[in-house]
Amino acid sequence: MIYLDNAATTKPLKEVQECVSEYMSDKWYNPSALYKNGNQVRSDIKKARKNIAKFINANTDEIYFTSGATESNNWVLRGFVDYCVANRIKPIIITSAIEHKSITDCLIGLMSVYSELRAYKTIVDKKTGFINYKHLQNILQTVFKKYYNAEKYKILVSIQYANSEIGTIQNIKKISEIVHSYDGFLHTDATQAFGHIPIDIKSEYIDLLSASSQKCGGLKGTGILYKSKYCDCIKPLIYGSQENSKRGGTENVIGIMAMSKAVDCFDKTYNQVSYIVKMKKYFEKQLIDKFGCKINGHWIDDNNEMLRDCNEYRLPNNLNVTFPQNITGEALIYMLDSAGIMISSGSACNSRTNQLSPVLKAIGLTDEEIMKTIRITIPDNITKEEIDIVINEIDKIIKILTS
Ligand code: PMP
Repeated sequence: MIYLDNAATTKPLKEVQECVSEYMSDKWYNPSALYKNGNQVRSDIKKARKNIAKFINANTDEIYFTSGATESNNWVLRGFVDYCVANRIKPIIITSAIEHKSITDCLIGLMSVYSELRAYKTIVDKKTGFINYKHLQNILQTVFKKYYNAEKYKILVSIQYANSEIGTIQNIKKISEIVHSYDGFLHTDATQAFGHIPIDIKSEYIDLLSASSQKCGGLKGTGILYKSKYCDCIKPLIYGSQENSKRGGTENVIGIMAMSKAVDCFDKTYNQVSYIVKMKKYFEKQLIDKFGCKINGHWIDDNNEMLRDCNEYRLPNNLNVTFPQNITGEALIYMLDSAGIMISSGSACNSRTNQLSPVLKAIGLTDEEIMKTIRITIPDNITKEEIDIVINEIDKIIKILTS
């Protein structure tokens, strides 16, 4: 078996599996209970919260545990609109053309309920997938001109940190500087970046951040929302007494402890980043040389000496490629699966719907090109031999499909 779909989910780390076992067999008590065993679990959650806060340079009381980034994203958008409506303020939400469905669909849902909500979308650069800063500025300027002096309004900008399909890492610091210059708040969906690359909410001026544990060696169904103590315009999504009365529901102790353990393992994985990039480049070269594949998203040409090893703007493990041959990504996936190789046709969230990827459309791919595209997200320990096996299988499949 060769698993090349780490953007969809990662295998829980060995350390995480051990931790889970401990909390399943010995430490399964309700953290709200008053007896010693409950207190012990409560104290462990406190440590986990501190650990995760430190990981992104936040304060401990700015971290809220959720069921994952989908909930965190919904919380931010809904909580913002609820706050604005309750305070008779016009809510303005700006997102980008390449956000996850938990942002785009949530926004569509909110717009169907709240007529006062105004939503805008920034375009992205066609080659790289970077936010078009000029367009973002134009939108903010338009909002400013339209509402300043006219009525009370608040701006929330939600731009993802890194893209799940094409791996583009945004310059979040630059985006937050633009957003703050118009008194807006910046939320970033960091699901694909958290636990893969370093994030510092203070030096990047991030107000709100969503992340999921399942993408970095933890478990599915756990995540966080980081909410800056200065950001007071988000109402709860799930009411109850837990998480400082901001997010109800008995804590998912196992998931929380697993996320903290995954974070502990970050340094070990990140130390291997140059190996991962080397393997990705080897993979990339084979795909280009053997099949004439086109690499989608921000990509550094190997001839560019200065930038050759710079991987700052693309997730180290991400490869998004379009085949020139008369084949579909879907056929390739099924046939590779039969050979024990797991890849994705793009975003796993879209792969069971018939919708063509809005991300690939936003960076200018034609419908035909999108159909011929696959996403490969390699694990940290991939070997050259495994890559050669995959290339060999693809070669065989292309011959079968085009004969
Ligand atoms: N945002 C992004 C960018 C994602 O890739 C995902 C997972 N595919 C999510 C949000 C949602 O994460 P979860 O399913 O863990 O809630």
